[in-house]
Amino acid sequence: MTSTAATDSPPYPHLFTPLDLGFTTIRNRVLMGSMHTGLEDRAKDFPRLAAYFAERAAGGVGLIVTGGFSPNLVGWLKPFGGKLSWPWEARPHKFVTKAVHEHGAKICAQLLHAGRYGYHPLTVAPSKIKAPINPFTPRALSARGIERQINAYANAAKLARDAGYDGVEIMGSEGYFINEFTAPRTNKRDDAWGGTPEKRMRFAVEIVRRVREAVGPDFIIIYRLSLLDLVEDGNQWDEIVQQAKAVEAAGATIINSGIGWHEARVPTIVTSVPRAAFVDVTAKLKPHVRVPLVATNRINMPEVAEGILAAGKADMVSLARPLLADPQWAAKARAGTPQAINTCIACNQACLDHVFENKLASCLVNPRACHETDLAYRKTFAPKTVAVVGAGPAGLACATVAAERGHRVTLFDAADEIGGQFNYAKRIPGKEEFHETLRYFRHRLEETRVDVKRSTPATVADLTGFDEVVLATGITPRRVAFPGADHAKVVSYADVLSGRVTVGARAALIGAGGIGFDVAEYLTHEGHSPSLDPARWMAEWGVDPTFEARGSLVKAQPEPPAREVWLLQRSPGKPGARLGKTSGWVHRATLKAKQVKMLGGVEYLGVDDVGLRIKVDGAEHLLPVDHVVVCAGQEPRRELQADLIAAGKTPHLVGGADVAAELDAKRAIDQGSRLAARL
Ligand code: FAD
Ligand code: NAP
Ligand code: SF4
Repeated sequence: MTSTAATDSPPYPHLFTPLDLGFTTIRNRVLMGSMHTGLEDRAKDFPRLAAYFAERAAGGVGLIVTGGFSPNLVGWLKPFGGKLSWPWEARPHKFVTKAVHEHGAKICAQLLHAGRYGYHPLTVAPSKIKAPINPFTPRALSARGIERQINAYANAAKLARDAGYDGVEIMGSEGYFINEFTAPRTNKRDDAWGGTPEKRMRFAVEIVRRVREAVGPDFIIIYRLSLLDLVEDGNQWDEIVQQAKAVEAAGATIINSGIGWHEARVPTIVTSVPRAAFVDVTAKLKPHVRVPLVATNRINMPEVAEGILAAGKADMVSLARPLLADPQWAAKARAGTPQAINTCIACNQACLDHVFENKLASCLVNPRACHETDLAYRKTFAPKTVAVVGAGPAGLACATVAAERGHRVTLFDAADEIGGQFNYAKRIPGKEEFHETLRYFRHRLEETRVDVKRSTPATVADLTGFDEVVLATGITPRRVAFPGADHAKVVSYADVLSGRVTVGARAALIGAGGIGFDVAEYLTHEGHSPSLDPARWMAEWGVDPTFEARGSLVKAQPEPPAREVWLLQRSPGKPGARLGKTSGWVHRATLKAKQVKMLGGVEYLGVDDVGLRIKVDGAEHLLPVDHVVVCAGQEPRRELQADLIAAGKTPHLVGGADVAAELDAKRAIDQGSRLAARL
C-alpha cells in the first residue's frame, strides 16, 4: 500500500509547501485535527498535555488543533470538562502553547460548545429536542440566552489569544451546538434564529463575526463547517455553500470539513470506511470560497494526503488519530520514508473508545500516546541478550522496543511470516489497514536489527543461553464440547481464515465475540471489500454520491450476502453487546444488512450430517448448515513455560501467552512494549 520515494525531488511536494495566511505562515499542510484525550480537563494535567503536543510539533506537524474547550458551563461536554471562560482557566494553556512554539508549529484552541450532546443536566439548544444518543433533554434558549452564548465564544477566543494560541477553531459541525442551529432537524425556532436557512445560520455567522472583533485581524479562525450532516433533516448542499460563504465573509481564515453528526447511522471514521472517503465533498466546496479548505477523515498515509492536495481537492489535510499512532508522521513523510510510519488502523480501541469510557486516550499501535511523560524507551546502559518467542503483536512490540533500547534481540516464530493473528485479521473485509501494522513492524525489525528467525518453533535448548526470555506465543482457539463437536463440518475460525477450509452455502458461527463478528463479515462478503471501493461503500450505507440530498442521505443498497449465516451465543441478550463502543454498532448494522441471523441465549444440542441442533427459549431448532465455525474464544499457549522453569530460566509472559481472556491487540502491544521498557 505504501511506496518509498527515492528521488532527489521532495517526496510529497504539495504536503510540504508552506501555507501563507497573510499575517502568518504555516510551515506545511499537515493539520493535527482536534481530539479529546482526557488531559484537557484538569489544570494539573497540562504539563502532560504539553509533552504530548510537543512530541507532535517536534515530529513536524504544521498546525495543531487542541481537544475541545467549552466557552461556558452550559456548553460543557461533560461535568467539569475543559472550559475557557476565566483568565485562571487560560493560564495553564501557556505550558501547551510554549511547548508547541518551541518546535516551530502553530496551535489553535478548539472552542466546542456541546449543545444537546452535553452529558449533564444543564444543556441548552436552539429547541427542546433530546438527542437520540444522550439521556439529557436540553433547555431551549431565549433570545437573550443566545446573546450570552455568542459573547462566551468571543470571550473564550480572547482568552485563547492571551494564552499564546495562534488561533481558535470554532466547532460548527458533528451535530454540536452551532450545527444544531443550522439544521432544520434541531432548530424549530420561528424567531430571528430559526425558520429560514438565513436565520438558521445567523448564529454561526454572529459567532465568527464577534470572535473576529474580539481577537483582531492577525489571529487564525478555523471554522469547522458540517459539509455532510448524514442525518435526516440535515442541511442541503446549497445551504452549506451559503454558510461557507457567510462565515468566510464574517472573518474565518480557514474552513475545516465536518463529516457526519455523532448520532448519524453512517460510519465516518472506523476502519471499514474507505481512505479519504469524503474528500470529494470538500472538493465540491472549493470553487465557492477563497479561504483555504481542509480535507478530513480517514487520511492516514502521505500518498493519500499528497494525492488530495495535488488534485486541488483541498489546501490542507487534517490527520488526528494518525498523529496519535505516530508523532513523527510528518517528519517521516518529509524524509521520504513512509514505510517507517506506524499507521493508524482506525480501530478506535484505545482512543475514542477510551474517551467514551472516561479513560485517558492512547493508541493501540502506540502505547506511548498520551503517556509521553511516563512511558519512555530509554537507551540501556546494560545491554542483554533477549529471546522473544512469538512474532504476534505482543512479541513484535516487545522485540522492537527492547532492540531500540540497545538490547540484542532474537525473535522466533514457528510461522513463515510475522504477525500472529493479525494475519487472520487482515483478511477480514474492512480490516485491510491491519496490513499496515505488519508492514510497519517488518520495517521496524530491520531498523532495530532484530535477528528474526521465521519458520522456527523455539525449543528450550534454543532459549536457555539468553539473559532474558519472553514468551509471546499467543493462543490456541478454544474447542467446544457438545455431541458431534468432532464432526467433519465443525471447523475453527483459523481453518476458515487461513483458507484451509472452504465454507459451504450455509454456516453457523458458534461464539459472537469480535472474531465471530469478523468471520460473519468474511463469509457474507466473500472476498469483496466495499472498503476498497468508495462508490460501492457509499451505496451500501446510503450516502448520496452527489452530496445534494438533504443530509446527504439516500436509500441504502447493500449487496446480497454471499452465504446464509447464523451468529450464535450462549449468553442471553443481543450478540455484539461487548464490541467496541464506537465501532460495535457498525459491525451489528453491517451484519444486519447482510441478513445474518443473530441469536442469544442459545443451547447447543449437537451437530450431525443434517446440521446444528440448538435450543432457544425452550424450543428446539435445526439449522441446516454445511459448516459450523467455532469462534468460542481462546486459551493461552505457553507449553514452553514449565520446561524453561525446570531448566532454571523463568520466562516473562506477554499477550495471549499470559492471559487469553479479553485479549486484544491493544493489551498485547501495550504489555509487550512496557515489558521491553523495563528490561
Ligand atoms: P498471537 O497473535 O497469537 O501471536 C503468537 C505467535 O506466536 C504466533 O505467530 C505463533 O506462530 C507464535 N508461536 C507460538 N508458539 C511458538 C513457538 N513455540 N515458537 C515460535 N513461535 C511460536 N485484536 C484487536 O485488538 N482488534 C481487532 O480488530 C482484532 N481483530 C481480530 C480479528 C481476527 C480475525 C483475529 C483472529 C484476531 C483479532 N484480534 C484483534 C485479536 C488480536 O489479533 C490478538 O489479540 C493478538 O494477535 C494477540 O497477540 P499475541 O502476540 O499475544 O499472540
Ligand atoms: P470473545 O470475545 O471472548 O468471544 C468468544 C465467544 O465465544 C463469546 O460469544 C462466548 O459467548 C463464546 N464462547 C466462549 N466459550 C464457549 C464455549 N465453551 N462454547 C461455546 N461458546 C463459547 O473472543 P473472540 O471472539 O475469540 O475474540 C478474541 C479477542 O480478539 C477478543 O477479546 C477481542 O477483543 C479481540 N478482537 C477484537 C476485535 C475488534 O474488532 N475490536 C475483533 C476481533 C477480535 P457465550 O459464552 O455467551 O457463548
Ligand atoms: Fe488509530 Fe486505533 Fe490508535 Fe486510535 S487506537 S489512533 S484508531 S490505531
